[in-house]
Amino acid sequence: MKRRNFLKNSGVATAGVLSTPFLTSCKANEEEKKSILKGHTETIKPIVICTWDFHNASAKAWEVLSSGASALDAVEQGVKVEEDDVNNQSVGRGGRPDRDGRVTLDACIMDKDGNCGAVLAMQHIANPISVARKVMEDTPHVMLAGKGAEQFAYEKGFEKMDLLTEQSKKEWLEWKKTSRYEPIINIENHDTIGMLAIDKNGNIAGGCTTSGMAYKMAGRVGDSPIIGAGLFVDNEVGGATATGVGEEVVRTVGSFLIVELMRQGKSPQEACEEGIRRIIAKNKGKLDFQIGFIAINKKGETGGYCIHPGFTYRTYSGKGHDNNPSKSFLKP
Ligand code: ASP
Repeated sequence: MKRRNFLKNSGVATAGVLSTPFLTSCKANEEEKKSILKGHTETIKPIVICTWDFHNASAKAWEVLSSGASALDAVEQGVKVEEDDVNNQSVGRGGRPDRDGRVTLDACIMDKDGNCGAVLAMQHIANPISVARKVMEDTPHVMLAGKGAEQFAYEKGFEKMDLLTEQSKKEWLEWKKTSRYEPIINIENHDTIGMLAIDKNGNIAGGCTTSGMAYKMAGRVGDSPIIGAGLFVDNEVGGATATGVGEEVVRTVGSFLIVELMRQGKSPQEACEEGIRRIIAKNKGKLDFQIGFIAINKKGETGGYCIHPGFTYRTYSGKGHDNNPSKSFLKP
């Protein structure tokens, strides 16, 4: 039986079967295990996919992959490009602040072995994705939040800096005149970068980083640093990541859902579409917000879907690079 059909028939329970001590400890089954896992990886291709038209970030990730480095290095280095770009007002330094004028950053990262790390609502540190990686690699924890995350970053040698740029401060002061919280679809604050990569060994990793919704309440955290919501990777199956109004993604554990749908046999495109449909079903017709999902499977097939037209995602591989307009639930 092909792995795809096997997975289809056995459904989500397969996850438990493959991760049981039985498969990992029983040496007699090692070869069988390898061939089961291999069934889904005929075409191993390095490839990068990210939310929105982040050419520089995807080019950087591709450069890292092309040098033979891991998907994990590629996503970290790739999304860092946006964290360092002060013109991106949704990620890293230059990000729009919360309603009290504080820039607080969220990020998470996940590797091929299901290890993950995240920082939430962290101030004064320009590269939350790298701090998230340190949380993953150097602590027994998955998430560090607020002051604790910041303190940990200093201990690891990260520099303290002011993340609020003149431009973002000016816009925030303007916003304060009315203090109306009305995110504008696709425009105001949906440039979160979620990135997924497959390296030359066929291993998958993902990263997601954001300054969150502009003018959010102090302490608000969205989907982006939440493993399963803003990002999920399963090296046997694929990965997914999200951008848009995080609360809605958290309510459906969107990225985990999409990976599980792929595990059951859906293509990345079909899985993203179902992920969006679940959110729509929960909202009973009230669709005044944007969500965009992207996904990749073990073969390097990709997909993307959103609620409102306007979302795009970048792919970068040996076949070239593209900014792909995503299909949308609502038509233009
Ligand atoms: N998902 C991010 C959040 O909710 C924001 C965005 O992607 O626009 O914080």
